[in-house]
Amino acid sequence: MSRRGEPPSPRRRLLSRRGRRLSPATVFFALLSLVLGVALYLETRSAPTSPPPSAAASPRFVPTRARPTPSPPHRVPTSVAERARPPRGPAAGAARVAIVIDDLGNELAPAARIAGWKEPVAGAVLPDLRWSAASAETLARGGHEVLLHLPMEPEGYPRVRPGPGLVLRSQSDAEIERLLEEDLATVPGAIGVNNHMGSAATADPRVMKAVSRVLARRGLFFLDSRTTDATVAERTAEEASVRAASRRVFLDDVAREDAIRAQLDELVRRAHQDGAAIAIGHPYPVTLFVLEKDLPEIGRRGVELVRVSDLVR
Ligand SMILES: [Zn+2]
Repeated sequence: MSRRGEPPSPRRRLLSRRGRRLSPATVFFALLSLVLGVALYLETRSAPTSPPPSAAASPRFVPTRARPTPSPPHRVPTSVAERARPPRGPAAGAARVAIVIDDLGNELAPAARIAGWKEPVAGAVLPDLRWSAASAETLARGGHEVLLHLPMEPEGYPRVRPGPGLVLRSQSDAEIERLLEEDLATVPGAIGVNNHMGSAATADPRVMKAVSRVLARRGLFFLDSRTTDATVAERTAEEASVRAASRRVFLDDVAREDAIRAQLDELVRRAHQDGAAIAIGHPYPVTLFVLEKDLPEIGRRGVELVRVSDLVR
């Protein structure tokens, strides 16, 4: 222990006087063995899953923490979808509603007003108008979902004129696909499409198949505005593996405060009945006024206002 040539330390001399058979090294290793033995005993006793006897007997086996232990039995998410699902907070399990405001793009003000709302109301923007792109960008910047509000041939065309970028039954598949691509380019950031008018075109399977091919390629969903009971839009979209949903309630066929509130009641009723329901409104001042007043409180009626993309399947 001491370096060669040094005099013995006082401690060494003390031990030597008591008993010559116990060298300091012997005492040290004896104490070390005792400490390790006690530690090993305590470790094996406290470990919930004891190691195999051979491992416990091995002199190399000492600290429990040094060997890989089985993970504690914590709950593992059962699927990616479950992990990805955002927490719904206190409204978990509530019926869900979504609201879309159609016919944007003729002016910027309504889109800017909706963009300022905290509630996740979506905006459907008509293509190729003076304020189409600016409306879409303003909505997206405000965190609101944007749809292309695709003009489609109505019964009564050409007496009724839905506006530029119109899909017609007389167009070929290739013409419809090219037109839809051009319309989408004027409404940047659109994540889905819904029909503007279209009581004739949405009842035509060939037209809806051509539309669905573009949606499938671009990963967009289709919201059927349901301007006719004869529509095949949702079914055709689903056959093309395009996510789709249908409007249940129009908020403002009668653009009056009491009538709009009655339609909001109907939206809540349909959501409780079916689990979810989508409403479409228009950028009338009275519609925007009622939504601004009523949407912050809609959670009290046992429904959760969600994004329209949450309700497409
Ligand atoms: Zn419309």
